[in-house]
Amino acid sequence: MSMEAMYRELGVSPRVYARGEQVLEGLRERFAEIDAVAEYNQLKVLHAMQESRVGAACFAATTGYGYDDVGRTTLEKVYAACFHTEAALVRPQITCGTHALAVALGANLLPGDELLSPVGRPYDTLEEVIGIRPSACSLREYGVTYRQVDLLPDGGFDYDGIRAAIGPKTKLITIQRSKGYATRPSFSVEEIGRLIAFCKDCKPDVVCMVDNCYGEFVERQEPSDVGADMVVGSLIKNPGGGLAPVGGYICGTERCVSRCAYRLSAPGLGQEVGANLGLMPALYQGFFLAPTVVAGALKGAIFAANLYEGLGFRVVPGGAEARHDIIQAVELGSKEAMVAFCKGIQAAAPVDSYVTPYPWDMPGYEDQVIMAAGAFVQGSSIELSADGPIRPPYAVYFQGGLTWQHAKVGILLSLQQLADAGLAEL
Ligand SMILES: *Cc1c(COP(=O)(O)O)cnc(C)c1O
Repeated sequence: MSMEAMYRELGVSPRVYARGEQVLEGLRERFAEIDAVAEYNQLKVLHAMQESRVGAACFAATTGYGYDDVGRTTLEKVYAACFHTEAALVRPQITCGTHALAVALGANLLPGDELLSPVGRPYDTLEEVIGIRPSACSLREYGVTYRQVDLLPDGGFDYDGIRAAIGPKTKLITIQRSKGYATRPSFSVEEIGRLIAFCKDCKPDVVCMVDNCYGEFVERQEPSDVGADMVVGSLIKNPGGGLAPVGGYICGTERCVSRCAYRLSAPGLGQEVGANLGLMPALYQGFFLAPTVVAGALKGAIFAANLYEGLGFRVVPGGAEARHDIIQAVELGSKEAMVAFCKGIQAAAPVDSYVTPYPWDMPGYEDQVIMAAGAFVQGSSIELSADGPIRPPYAVYFQGGLTWQHAKVGILLSLQQLADAGLAEL
């Protein structure tokens, strides 16, 4: 069977397939750059594993308290070596990215302290963690105040505003690398480094934390290479490589990370407890594969940007722009178009390809959210997925794909759905 016929069998028409091939012609150089970053990061991870003396004993399961868990301790050494930090907390007991961020904030802010976001509104779920939206057990309930400095209209940092906002109470500065559900640009590691340097210049002892979700391995450097005291993320996104079934990480200074460990388990216990429950092989192997999995996801994001931009949709980032995370926003302009796009992504999934996604009231989010994901790991967004809150400008956020080839067919099927519904003009 020809390639075109194979695609047709999966529901992609010859016209949509041809359109995709035409777009790909122009992307060879971009793809070669992505492969070079993956190669660099593969070496970085490999070196971290060798240096930390990963051995077969690391893969054994532990239960109960998990005292002397060599697999857990060594994995934390690997993360610290890779992110170039003094310490790391990498645990299946961290349930998701929001949890990791809540632990990092809660552990390092005390009553009377102030938290500052110099990059505008944080990711939706953080609003309840912070207490921007009233919520039980928020930082606000515990007497931690919050300030925010919005980005300038051109997306740049408002340095004057930030200087004015840093005061005697400012204890921790949170910087979100990825745009999340906003249509602002994501920040490069270099830009984050400049912002951290500015903040530390205003107040040398302020703690700078970076929400690193979706950013890991996109560049050669991580925010911890440019002055961040803590970098925080989810293992069912980039660093889990698609194999980690659960978990989160916090890499950073010994002081910050040990506080996080006491907050996660209990004062006095800290990093010494936490059984690995047999998950170590997946966490190690996933981290090993993460650089190449991220490369596949990046190719998918760039392909989607160029395909949809060519059809007249606004895409963030633009097709030719540099990438700082694996997320691609496509502004579709209506709820119907969001549903059609997500249907296409869902139809391309290896799992649950037969179900239809609908908007729903998801915990932690203010607006209804639509999600398409047919993943091996529930909610994993390093696997091919698309989601977005049902609100103007009706943007879907597309991300992931364990392989570039899977991302490609998913994107083509999303366009097929839009074309079939008369919502996109080929
Ligand atoms: C996904 C994400 C989070 C939250 O992670 P969950 O695992 O969904 O809880 C936080 N910040 C950003 C920027 C994210 O992309």
